[in-house]
Amino acid sequence: MSKEQIDFESILNYIHNEVTKEVQRGQVASYIPELAKVDPEHFGIHLRPIDHSPIGIGDFSTPFSIQSICKVLSLAHALKLLDTDIWKRVGVEPTHEPFNHLSLTEKGNGIPNNPFINAGAIVVCDMLYSQLENPEKDFLDFVRNLSDDSSINYDKKVYASEKANGYRNHATASLLKSLNNLHNDVEQVLNFYYLQCSLCMSCEQLSKTFYCFMNGGKNIVGQEFLTPSQTKRINAIMLTCGFYNDVGGFAFNVGLPAKSGVGGGIVAVYPGKYCISTWSPGLNQKGNSLLGIKALEMFTTETKLSIF
Ligand code: GLN
Repeated sequence: MSKEQIDFESILNYIHNEVTKEVQRGQVASYIPELAKVDPEHFGIHLRPIDHSPIGIGDFSTPFSIQSICKVLSLAHALKLLDTDIWKRVGVEPTHEPFNHLSLTEKGNGIPNNPFINAGAIVVCDMLYSQLENPEKDFLDFVRNLSDDSSINYDKKVYASEKANGYRNHATASLLKSLNNLHNDVEQVLNFYYLQCSLCMSCEQLSKTFYCFMNGGKNIVGQEFLTPSQTKRINAIMLTCGFYNDVGGFAFNVGLPAKSGVGGGIVAVYPGKYCISTWSPGLNQKGNSLLGIKALEMFTTETKLSIF
């Protein structure tokens, strides 16, 4: 992959032109009222190749709510602190259910299928809550160090909006508690979960933050955050669980480990080659960014750079 071989800038400009012509943009998430206020016309894309300068097009520097994309960051933080112990309380299998499905914790022992469905992410939050002295500050510091960007922050309006309407997550956490897989107080763990989901980043910041997963565990300034083995496992879970019940379609159409969020963001990595982020707030029926998927499909098709 070199500048001579692939003209990334032209490809990204072409994708931007094509995608922004689309009339069908999906539905902006409305179950978190603060997210319903976001203009569905936004579209941004940002590419950070390992051996080429980064390129951003459209609204690539506008921060948005990363929502479930934070689940990769909390998993990374928990792996760094607890390593393989975390797999005693959360599995690594994909599901055929939506991200917020309740039955996942009812099957037997209360161990959620994977860390990216809400039930699994809430268990990971609980682990971090037990480990961290000041969960709110320590998690933010972890993310800021990972991305080498101290401007990243929580959006307390989005946090409050989700907390005020978090009935389903409350049910999930209560079910986990009843099945002995939540060690701390339900409210406190959920508050921490909503804070993580409220993290705000632009496409540019997402590509920087996820550089570590593309680079064997070393972040953008070469600091080692995860071992290559831990990184490999996170990428495998992104590939198999990052899009919930849409994961087969994403692998088929795009072919990269990736994670989506109901704020309309997607970040994808090609290990050893590049990180790419998109933002378009309109979602498909499975809660993933409609135009983001389209843009990434065009990108891996035009560049021939998918892992398959
Ligand atoms: N905070 C959201 C929730 O718990 C995250 C969901 C998502 O982005 N898929 O419902």
